[in-house]
Amino acid sequence: MRIIQTTQSLRTWRRRHDPLRTSIGLVPTMGALHAGHRSLIQRARRTCGTVVVSIFVNPLQFGPAEDYRRYPRDLSQDLACCREENVDLVFIPKLETLYPQDFQTTVAVRTLSRRWEGEYRPTHFEGVTTVVTKLLNLVRPAHAFFGQKDYQQCCVIRQLVQDLDLDTRVTLCPTIRDADGFALSSRNHYVTKSQRQRALALYQALSAGKAAIAGGMRRADLVEKNMAKVLNAGPGLTIDYLACCDARTLEPLSRLRGTVVLLGAIRIGGVRFIDNLIVRVPQ
Ligand code: AMP
Repeated sequence: MRIIQTTQSLRTWRRRHDPLRTSIGLVPTMGALHAGHRSLIQRARRTCGTVVVSIFVNPLQFGPAEDYRRYPRDLSQDLACCREENVDLVFIPKLETLYPQDFQTTVAVRTLSRRWEGEYRPTHFEGVTTVVTKLLNLVRPAHAFFGQKDYQQCCVIRQLVQDLDLDTRVTLCPTIRDADGFALSSRNHYVTKSQRQRALALYQALSAGKAAIAGGMRRADLVEKNMAKVLNAGPGLTIDYLACCDARTLEPLSRLRGTVVLLGAIRIGGVRFIDNLIVRVPQ
């Protein structure tokens, strides 16, 4: 497994890489790798001849009051994970490598970034789309793999790739969960047992919404009410949003049809949790 830290070495590696011989798959991450990241790497391994994983805690996608400094970092474990998963190349740029002193360009996807996460984290997606553009330009992969766990992020990146004519296919991979349904996340490192227990209600609420749709409910407001009841917000738990949206545009729906995504974000004791479920509404 090769480890590269500079953009210059990455460019040299990429120039030598013959795209006709083997396709490159990129899995962008912020490290603290877990089974969710592994599933993306495994999907890339099955699809592509060469698998590249990037590990970079991107300051641009954190708000000023967010957890950039305390975000979990464990490079030796991450490298061990990449070795186990037979990754070909790990790109671990330093902060000043991707953002030198005179860095001044950002990339923004306007409409899709505005709602939901964008409302609570106004600079987040611009940070994501800027770093992903840089990574796609450097690696020029045929495929890039993202997790459904961050569903809005996937939609934003798909739009970015389409709008900027980037020659990469974006693949959405299923959310990996614990046995009780709790979605894996690097941030779970600093979630207490009782926070985790309470936060599980988010998955349960989304599941109740899905079940209600399967049972014939078609009014979004009723499904949302149903989900909110399960979440039972109160002291200690705040709902940022809980909504039924069109799976492509992320616009809120009033009557449910086609493919719908149930999106939710809650806060418990200063920790934010997001989750979602995609539901195909029967005709
Ligand atoms: P992160 O390191 O949190 O930026 O995530 C890197 C990639 O892993 C993103 O595409 C995430 O959506 C994906 N990911 C994170 N958690 C999970 C999970 N539980 N299941 C599947 N993919 C995930």
